[in-house]
Amino acid sequence: MTAADNEEQRASGRRILISGGSSGIGLAAAERLAATDRVWILGSSTSSVEAAVRHSAAPFTGSSACDLADHDQIDAAVDEVAARLGGLDAVFVNAGIDGQGVPAQDLSLDHFRRVLEINVLGAFALARAGLRHLDRPGTILFTASVNAVKPEVDFLDYNASKAAVVSIAKTLALEVSHQGVCVIALCPGYFPTPMTNAYLDDPAISEELLSRIPARRFGTLDEIAETVDFLLSPAARFMTGAVLTLDGGTNL
Ligand code: NAD
Repeated sequence: MTAADNEEQRASGRRILISGGSSGIGLAAAERLAATDRVWILGSSTSSVEAAVRHSAAPFTGSSACDLADHDQIDAAVDEVAARLGGLDAVFVNAGIDGQGVPAQDLSLDHFRRVLEINVLGAFALARAGLRHLDRPGTILFTASVNAVKPEVDFLDYNASKAAVVSIAKTLALEVSHQGVCVIALCPGYFPTPMTNAYLDDPAISEELLSRIPARRFGTLDEIAETVDFLLSPAARFMTGAVLTLDGGTNL
């Protein structure tokens, strides 16, 4: 395929907005999708988005910064992206932050509040803004976590936030599926990203984690990017309301 063919394919491809698109799972999905679709990545800061665009060879259609703690910023960012892309076919509500990683008795309420602010309210506000611009049929895909359905010790804040994401996805599916909007919650296990590298690179922690994964390995970013590609496709539309694990059978 020539560069012109690729450009033509992209022009007729899906218009996809991805939060947390500047790193990890979001970036891997964005890079895969950008080969065939018009992809706009959102990141938490201008510097992180610019760095992602500079280091990636993928032809993103656009990129911008948006703090998910600021709901006005979210609305403005999604309005701008939808205007620039001429609408949206899918929103991948993916950005999130980690838990404090301490026993519940030591959990700081400030940290818990921050996790809920970004992982729950930020995700909901982004999905809500996306729904206002989403063409029908369209898809809202959330990144929840295996922790939503199989809670992990010492991660009460994160577990609870991702369980809320699953509930948001299932409730939205009840409300908007009849409009032609497919809503899915993807629950990944462990994938190597800036969020998890500290655990996965630590031999003692990773050995312990692997003992709880029947597949005896972590996921790859290619695997999750391919899954996201499928879940945003027309073939997955009847999966609306689904809560899907992608975790090698993890038993936390
Ligand atoms: P990551 O740290 O690379 O990505 C997190 C993204 O969220 C970053 O791009 C960051 O810019 C963005 N973000 C954080 N705070 C933000 C804010 N205030 N405003 C806007 N954006 C903000 O890690 P990742 O693993 O790629 O995480 C992506 C999603 O996957 C998260 O929701 C995470 O909880 C979830 N997840 C990851 C794993 C894993 O093993 N990596 C497993 C299950 C779920």
